[in-house]
Amino acid sequence: MIDLICICCPEGCRLQVDPDHDYAVTGNRCPRGETYGREEVISPVRIVTSTVRLTSETVPRLPVKTDRPVPKSVMFQVMDEINRVVLNPPVRLGQPVISDVAGTGADVVATRTVTA
Ligand code: SF4
Repeated sequence: MIDLICICCPEGCRLQVDPDHDYAVTGNRCPRGETYGREEVISPVRIVTSTVRLTSETVPRLPVKTDRPVPKSVMFQVMDEINRVVLNPPVRLGQPVISDVAGTGADVVATRTVTA
């Protein structure tokens, strides 16, 4: 049995996932917990948040995030790609910074606008 805490809402239900019985989930108070528990054990994913370098003299770093969750197993490749980016402003909120990061199908996008 694998013990987890559901992170889908502030209730923080304590989940038990049974890999010997088709990843059956107990302890969840709603269906989201069942989905989260199964996925967290079988194929965990996360939204990645970070920053990239800017050539701006006033704003040195641009906050970014993946536009969807990506597998935890490729987190280091995602960060490698993010760390290689250097952008020239202007950059607008939501602008893709990296397309298909680490072959995940997710884009890394800007989470703020920097004009100069
Ligand atoms: S199982 Fe449902 S109620 Fe419990 S923490 Fe997850 S989302 Fe919230």
